[in-house]
Amino acid sequence: MHALPQSPDTIVAAATPPGRGGIGIVRLSGSRAPEIGAALAGHLPPPRRAAFARFVDAQGQPIDAGLVLYFPAPGSYTGEPVVELHGHGGPVVLEALVARAVELGARRAAPGEFTQRAFLNDKVDLAQAEAIADLIEAGSRAAARAAMRSLQGEFSAMVQALSEAVVELRTYIEAAIDFPEEEIDSLADRELVKRLDSIRDRFDAVEQSARRGRLLRDGMTVVIAGRPNAGKSSLLNRLAGYDAAIVTPVAGTTRDVVKERIHLDGMPLHVLDTAGLREAGDIVEEEGIRRTHAEIARADRVLFVIDAIADPTCEAFREEHSRLPPEVPVTLIFNKCDLLGPNAPGIRLIEADSLSGAPCIALSALTGEGLEALRSHLKSSMGYDSPDAGAVSARARHLEALSRGRGHVDAAAHELTERRAGELVAEELRGAQRALGEITGEFTSEDLLGRIFSSFCVGK
Ligand code: GDP
Repeated sequence: MHALPQSPDTIVAAATPPGRGGIGIVRLSGSRAPEIGAALAGHLPPPRRAAFARFVDAQGQPIDAGLVLYFPAPGSYTGEPVVELHGHGGPVVLEALVARAVELGARRAAPGEFTQRAFLNDKVDLAQAEAIADLIEAGSRAAARAAMRSLQGEFSAMVQALSEAVVELRTYIEAAIDFPEEEIDSLADRELVKRLDSIRDRFDAVEQSARRGRLLRDGMTVVIAGRPNAGKSSLLNRLAGYDAAIVTPVAGTTRDVVKERIHLDGMPLHVLDTAGLREAGDIVEEEGIRRTHAEIARADRVLFVIDAIADPTCEAFREEHSRLPPEVPVTLIFNKCDLLGPNAPGIRLIEADSLSGAPCIALSALTGEGLEALRSHLKSSMGYDSPDAGAVSARARHLEALSRGRGHVDAAAHELTERRAGELVAEELRGAQRALGEITGEFTSEDLLGRIFSSFCVGK
């Protein structure tokens, strides 16, 4: 199925991270792994049994001593013969073992090459291979759980089942096309429309799980914007929990974009505090303002901070509104509500709501009042209310493929109901099938594989 060379060379790398640790593992994979492993360790133990060995150099001098393990093909991580040497975790020793394996004919592995071989040998599909990297890189328990679900094949199984439903429907339609006298009747079949609808619903369900997983992995990007002195830096610091940005009462302190990575119940939140949006006083400020606009265009949400005391009628937002990209949602933050009377924020919220349709939150970056409301608003705005409910680790490319597949199903429904064009319905369904196949790696390009695996660490 995939382009694995006839007899790929044997690769070697340290599988444990660089640095010092109790144990360091060197892994060999390929047809010559047993031979090179035996030369290094003096002998190979029976399959999957750990044995003590001295690892020696070309002169037979010991480099290190530890355990040796042998996994014959295909029952190994890569599906090829694999030998592991578990020695002491020091960079010099590990490098000496790798160098000796190279002398004996192995090649240093590229990043992700072990996992790439596992994929090429059908040990894992592409979504599972990506989940391995996501598990290693998980920044929270929730993200790790989602990665584990994908690694165990939950995501792939959902995609696979959906793909089977698409193929079944396509085969049915193609059979109808082969009997043209019946075509019109069978394509008018309400049953067909129902089946297409159910496929669309299933696309939505898979996308929802994937979207949650993607949030766990990549998080959301929030830009804090507003006039100087509105309290943007104070809000960032509040969210981050310590002084990340410089807070001063002098306008224009934040000249550049300050980035913070925070966790909201496991979801990474990238918060960007930006230079004030206003006429620039000098070139540095002008650049800051240009960057603010660039960051806003890429964000998932803008928190537009208003000084509820200095700007009770939201002039800053009225002014800026038309310059904000319409596709990026805005939340209005009425800051400094600690200085307002007890009923005032509520009244202003209603005014602002009718002004822009944007949700509003009154808070105080100084006292922390209203911060919890902001946090839950951010979570729910990204559909992150119950993050662990079936989230599977997913990436932007998976979501893109799902949305492309769903587009084909929509087009198929259109061809069916509007034009009754069986051939075109089948063609669209083929497109949907292809999009789903890209997720699991059934349809891939060398280019895509290169991009995916090169982002892995060496030795994985
Ligand atoms: P930025 O220019 O928008 O980043 O604003 P800063 O975060 O630097 O805040 C400007 C000034 O307003 C500082 O003196 C802050 O201490 C003050 N400030 C910020 N948030 C609040 C708040 O919620 N209540 C009060 N009373 N003062 C605040």
